[in-house]
Amino acid sequence: MTAQLIKGAEVAAQIREELKKEIADLKAKHNVVPGLVTVLVGADPASQVYVGQKEKTSKELGIYSERYDLPADTSQADLLKLIDKLNKDPKINGILVQLPLPKGLNEEEVLIAIDPKKDVDGFHPVNVGKLMIGEPDYLPCTPAGIQQLLIRSGTQIEGAEVVVVGRSNIVGKPIANMLLQKAEGANATVTICHTRTKDIAFHTKRADILIVAAGKPKAVTGDMVKEGVVVIDVGVNQIGTTAEGKRILAGDVDFDTVSEKAKAITPVPGGVGPMTITMLMMNTVRAAKVAAGLTE
Ligand code: NAP
Repeated sequence: MTAQLIKGAEVAAQIREELKKEIADLKAKHNVVPGLVTVLVGADPASQVYVGQKEKTSKELGIYSERYDLPADTSQADLLKLIDKLNKDPKINGILVQLPLPKGLNEEEVLIAIDPKKDVDGFHPVNVGKLMIGEPDYLPCTPAGIQQLLIRSGTQIEGAEVVVVGRSNIVGKPIANMLLQKAEGANATVTICHTRTKDIAFHTKRADILIVAAGKPKAVTGDMVKEGVVVIDVGVNQIGTTAEGKRILAGDVDFDTVSEKAKAITPVPGGVGPMTITMLMMNTVRAAKVAAGLTE
C-alpha cells in the first residue's frame, strides 16, 4: 500500500484562508478585531522563533498583535502583574505565555493567572476540565490541529480504534480526551500507551488511527502497525545537522516502514507542526467572538 500523505502545511494554509475571510468579516460587519498578545520571558532561541512565527501569522491574518519580551530575571510578581493588566485589556482576546519559562518562575501559577476566556493555548485548568466533561471552550492547539487533520483528510473517526502513544498534558491526554467525546469528529474508542505499557505493539497493531507523541525517533516501526492504519506523527526530533548547519528533523514514527502499510500518514516536517499556530489563531478569533457576544 502506498500511503497518502496528510499534508499539514496545505490544510493549515486552507484554514488560514478561511480565518482571514472571517476576520475581515468581523471587522467589516461588527468592527471587531481579534487581539493576541505573546509574552516571552528570556531569550531561548527556539522560543524566540516560535513567538516570531505567532506574531507574523497574526499580522498576515489581520489579528491585532502585541508582544512583550521580558528579561530572564523577571520576577514572578512582575509577570503576574503584566498578566493581570492583559486580562483587563479589551483589545486583547488571547494571551499566550511562551513555555517553558526560565527556572525560578512558577509556570502553573502563571497559567492559572490567565483569564480562562483569554486562554487561547487551552492549558488553564478550567479549560482542561471543560474539555474533560465534553463542553470545551478552547481546545489545546496541537491536539486541535491533529483532530482537524483527521477530519479534513476524510478519516473515519467515529467508531474507530484510536491508539495514542504518549500521555503528556499538551498532546497525548488532550487528544485522547477529544477523540473520546460524544461529539462530531470524535466518538472513537481510545487507548493510551506510555513507557509503562506492557506490550505497546499489541495495542498499536489494533489501531485504525495511530497518534504518536512520544518524543522518541522510531518509537513506532512498520512491524507494529496493521495494513490500512492512518498515522499522525506528532514527534519533532533533531537527528542531525546538514553541512549548512540546518537541523535534520524526524518524527516518532519510522516513516519508511510504516508508510508501506499505512493508508495515510503525516510527514515530519510539514505534518502536525504547521497546524499548531493555525489553531492558536482559530482560538483567538473564537475568543474575540465570545467577547463581542457574537457566539457562546
Ligand atoms: P513528553 O512530555 O516528553 O511526553 C512523551 C510521552 O511519550 C510520555 O507520556 C512518555 O511516557 C511517552 N513515551 C516516550 N517514549 C515512549 C515509548 N518508546 N513508548 C511509549 N511511550 C513513550 O512529550 P510531548 O510534549 O507530548 O511531545 C511529544 C513529541 O511531540 C515531541 O517530539 C515534541 O517535540 C512533539 N511536539 C510537536 C508539536 C507540534 O506542534 N508539532 C507540539 C508539541 C509536541 P511516560 O509518561 O511514561 O514518560
